[in-house]
Amino acid sequence: MIPFLSLKDVTAAHGEEIQAAVRRVVDSGWYLQGQENARFEKNYAEYIGVDHCIGCANGLDALIWIFRAYLELGIMQPGDEVIVPANTYIASILAITENGLTPVLVEPDMNTYQLDGSKVEAAITPRTKAIMIVHLYGQCAYTDQIGELCAKYNLKLVEDNAQAHGCRFKGGSRTGSIGHAAGHSFYPGKNLGALGDGGAVTTSDAELAECIRALANYGSTRKYVFKYTGRNSRLDEIQAAVLDVKLKYLDEDTEKRRAVARYYLENIKNPAVILPQVPDWQAHVFHLFPIRCSRRDELQQHLTTNGVQTVIHYPIPPHKQECYQEWNDRSYPITEQIHDEELSLPISPTMTEADMKAVVTAVNAFA
Ligand SMILES: *Cc1c(COP(=O)(O)O)cnc(C)c1O
Repeated sequence: MIPFLSLKDVTAAHGEEIQAAVRRVVDSGWYLQGQENARFEKNYAEYIGVDHCIGCANGLDALIWIFRAYLELGIMQPGDEVIVPANTYIASILAITENGLTPVLVEPDMNTYQLDGSKVEAAITPRTKAIMIVHLYGQCAYTDQIGELCAKYNLKLVEDNAQAHGCRFKGGSRTGSIGHAAGHSFYPGKNLGALGDGGAVTTSDAELAECIRALANYGSTRKYVFKYTGRNSRLDEIQAAVLDVKLKYLDEDTEKRRAVARYYLENIKNPAVILPQVPDWQAHVFHLFPIRCSRRDELQQHLTTNGVQTVIHYPIPPHKQECYQEWNDRSYPITEQIHDEELSLPISPTMTEADMKAVVTAVNAFA
């Protein structure tokens, strides 16, 4: 069986250095809010190209803290609207509703699967305060058009960079440095993954950074002094040390993902399958390799039978979820079609050529 993603192999690829980093923290006797966090935050901020990085407990918290901080700073008010792609992972939307803000779902583009900039302006109202772009599947979702709309309507641009560590817009700025603030996830399966939960906010807004650092640490600005009713949402020292090792290899690992993607794009030849479009290789880090097929469930079954494990991202769109019942009767046809047709093929920096070949053979054999 070719696994969808072998985390064991991914960790083993840098195993000795990771083990040494973990041992260093274990032996140090210092497990939270220490030099491992400080070092990783500095290195990750530099890598992304921002002034500030604040480690936190996970990617969902990172996104929650961004909006919470805008509320605390008086930049947003409860009930304000945030434009967000209708086809995102639920966490993007939870971060908005968790803060008493209103998500305004906008359809993606069928070719890129990213927020369709041409549909955004019609969704803007006097209550719109932000656009959240989600660099879904590892592809840059930012466009000049989205940037212009943010400037024209004075909107905050928030990036969900959980799937796109290392991705670049037009070969320059990394995602996570393009908007006013970005949330990152270090969930183990992400391109930069920890050995457990982890997340971070990146921003060049000093006031926002200071507020978020306090919120993620009980709302404390100084020891035993509480400015906000925050929560405990810290990145621990072991995860920071592991992430700092893996960060050094991120660009190399991304190139390996791109090589798998290139191989799939050149060799998958099946009229029943729609491959992802890649106009700019720097703007895609292939967190996933999403294909589409109108007989998706049959294709998945065929691949399973032929020893290829696949995953659907995602089977049910947010507006059809029970937790958002108030949207259940709405219709977002493009989003729904993507959810009906999408299938993610195995992709990772540790895939062997034999695995890649076997995946292609199995996909091409689907009649
Ligand atoms: C993984 C993910 C998140 C949430 O990250 P966690 O660390 O699992 O909380 C948010 N948004 C997107 C698009 C994701 O893929």
